[in-house]
Amino acid sequence: MLVKKEDSNGIWVFAELCGGSVRKVSFELLGAARRLADAQSEKLAAVILAGDGGASEIPEEAIAFGADEVYVVEGPGYETYNTEAYCCAIATLAEKYRPSAIIIGATDLGRDLAPRLAARLRTGLTADCIDMAYNSETANIDWICPAFGGKLIVTISCPDSRPQMGTVRQGMYDLPRRSDARRGRIIAEPIPASPESSLVRVLDTVVSAAEGPDLESAQVIVAGGHGMGSAENFEKLYRLAELLGGKVAASRAPVEFGWIDEGCMIGHSGKSVSTKLYIALGISGTIQHVAGVKSDLIIAVNKDRNAPIFDIADISVVGDANEFVSALVARLEK
Ligand SMILES: Cc1cc2nc3c(=O)[nH]c(=O)nc-3n(C[C@H](O)[C@H](O)[C@H](O)COP(=O)(O)OP(=O)(O)OC[C@H]3O[C@@H](n4cnc5c(N)ncnc54)[C@H](O)[C@@H]3O)c2cc1C
Repeated sequence: MLVKKEDSNGIWVFAELCGGSVRKVSFELLGAARRLADAQSEKLAAVILAGDGGASEIPEEAIAFGADEVYVVEGPGYETYNTEAYCCAIATLAEKYRPSAIIIGATDLGRDLAPRLAARLRTGLTADCIDMAYNSETANIDWICPAFGGKLIVTISCPDSRPQMGTVRQGMYDLPRRSDARRGRIIAEPIPASPESSLVRVLDTVVSAAEGPDLESAQVIVAGGHGMGSAENFEKLYRLAELLGGKVAASRAPVEFGWIDEGCMIGHSGKSVSTKLYIALGISGTIQHVAGVKSDLIIAVNKDRNAPIFDIADISVVGDANEFVSALVARLEK
């Protein structure tokens, strides 16, 4: 169904469940979508799909994190993710309520669900966004995402059809403040899943071990690049991270040299982080790397005063990264 701009209202965030709880990215998106909804004077709604009774306290939680309304679809066929059932249920809701935007986390599930849903609703989808902003001149959402293999950061909008749709990476926004005093409306929508008519059957769910350390929730990251020079030098970063209570990460070059596992790579094709402190040591700062970095404070150390990493750094140190690490470790050990 084609929905026109003037016939739509309300920003929706799909609240993805994992093991019975909402994924962190969905709460982050509720916070960001709250700002979009306020900017365009629209309501913010969360959409929850779960097995019988599986939504439990989650609607109240979504309201505490910023939703005005929560659409809850519960029943057999929704306890585990099924592309067809989930897509059909959300499309049914969207056709009934006509939201102006649907925002989904760029998780494995979200990346599977969003394109199918967009096709079903005959609208556009901007995938893998790193930011969103309401454009008051066009009255559209500007979806900001890396393009051409991360060589460019582009702004995409969906000017005519509704809902506007985007998947957004985890770690792009801080968690919103939870307020249990907030009040909202919970709307139960009985949409039968009819798993027997589905072409897809979920036979088993295997939870894979997380790839590498949990960098996404680290507050401090000590990240090394090619400029660290060798595996031995790179090893020194672990002591610095330990002293700062942080984790070690890397740009792509050290991963390719085998100095560190791929699960520790930050950037467009690695992990996205949102930290209090990010120390970039011997990292040039290509767009593919910095696309994954969000931090309250960025300290960059590079021999080249023109290195692009200095464009995003709060504190820029022109010098040798190894000397910097040794000096800082010595100071912190005192
Ligand atoms: C499709 C695609 C996706 C990509 N995805 C990612 C990604 O997710 N993450 C990622 O990181 N990269 C990614 N890349 C690779 C990216 O483009 C860069 O090649 C990579 O980030 C470079 O790593 P680097 O900065 O460590 O190394 P380099 O580019 O080699 O830079 C090394 C830096 O160290 C400095 N230096 C040298 N010696 C010293 C010293 N002794 N002290 C201080 N500074 C020193 C140099 O001046 C230089 O700035 C991707 C590339 C493509 C094409």
